Amino acid sequence: MSTGMTNLVRTLDSVDFLKLDRRTFMKVVGTIGATAFLTNYQTEIVNALEFAETKIIWLHGSECTGCSESLLNGGNPDVAQALTKLNVNLAYHETLCAQQGIWNDGKLVNTSELNSEILLEELYKEGNYILVVEGSIPNGPDGSGRYLVIGNKTFKETLGEAAKNANAIIAVGACAAYGGITSADSDVAKDTDYRGVAFAKTDSSKGMLKELGIDKPVINIPGCPAHPDWILLTLGAVILGKIKIPDDLPAALDQYGRPKVFFPPDHTVHDNCPRRGYYDRGLFDEQVGGPNCLWKLGCKAPYAHADCGIRKWNGSVSMCTQAGGPCIACVEPGFPDSSRPLYVEAEDEGIAGANIDTVAKVAVGAAAVAAGVHAVRRMKGE
Ligand code: SF4
Ligand code: SF4
Repeated sequence: MSTGMTNLVRTLDSVDFLKLDRRTFMKVVGTIGATAFLTNYQTEIVNALEFAETKIIWLHGSECTGCSESLLNGGNPDVAQALTKLNVNLAYHETLCAQQGIWNDGKLVNTSELNSEILLEELYKEGNYILVVEGSIPNGPDGSGRYLVIGNKTFKETLGEAAKNANAIIAVGACAAYGGITSADSDVAKDTDYRGVAFAKTDSSKGMLKELGIDKPVINIPGCPAHPDWILLTLGAVILGKIKIPDDLPAALDQYGRPKVFFPPDHTVHDNCPRRGYYDRGLFDEQVGGPNCLWKLGCKAPYAHADCGIRKWNGSVSMCTQAGGPCIACVEPGFPDSSRPLYVEAEDEGIAGANIDTVAKVAVGAAAVAAGVHAVRRMKGE
């Protein structure tokens, strides 16, 4: 990560958003968005600050709700501050809304206050919303999508309806972005056929929107779970118009639809790991609980393109490797298969055999010479 970007992230971490009024808050987030997402600064930020209330429809597919949990656990700003300051109307969120469902005491519920299907249909008709998808979408069995039915509809159908009128679509978490844990290789994977919104693992031709014949751009915020900052700052940038859809996306996103600012193509978690000095000196833990580099315990951080080492987690307190957990490269499109076996030292297939980005390859090559270790195979799941 460049020094400028590092300073930017540190600046963000030091801002107390609670002490800002709405306008200043939005200027701060807008500036971050401008610096981060855009190559040329957009002066119309001032106009964007006066935007009308923005609605968010947040759908859950096949997932553990860990990304919503991560979002609720905060970051800076936390979700309550962000929704208030950004004037966002979280119009629908399955685990936060108080909808009762379709039936109540044996009677069909027919108001949007109580029936989530009616509420969603009303919101689709109104349009002018950002669609956030958490969780993957089963295409199976046989393309029917019936491995996930909510109410009277398959989630595949629900996604298609919601996507049509969305102003922007954001896939949050590894499952929504690429299929994630739900799409891991197994005896039933072909039958369940889990897809991400715009990708199936690394394959953009198999995303669920393509399957549905919907041609709309998608911003992927992967991670298992996604970091609350990644989610909120991306939403902030979209809401503020700092990232214009679709025009700015080719410059803002990498080949897997990830915002480059959070998932830098030329940097990995390994670059900023607090244990990096041990790696460079060839000092490796072989049992959990030690102070040294976790490579031999299966750390895949040299292949994880994310800013975890700088941004850190849980209010910037710590992160996976700092806390003693090997990085499992949860932000990569091939995850989890590309990181398996998770807690076993990566196989030695030689640098040339590793299917990794060129810059990471060079970085790992240099470190490998120093530490006497070699590259990982299958890291990108291609
Ligand atoms: S291999 Fe993992 S634990 Fe070791 S320095 Fe790199 S990121 Fe840190
Ligand atoms: S350190 Fe690795 S496993 Fe942990 S959140 Fe970041 S990319 Fe995922």
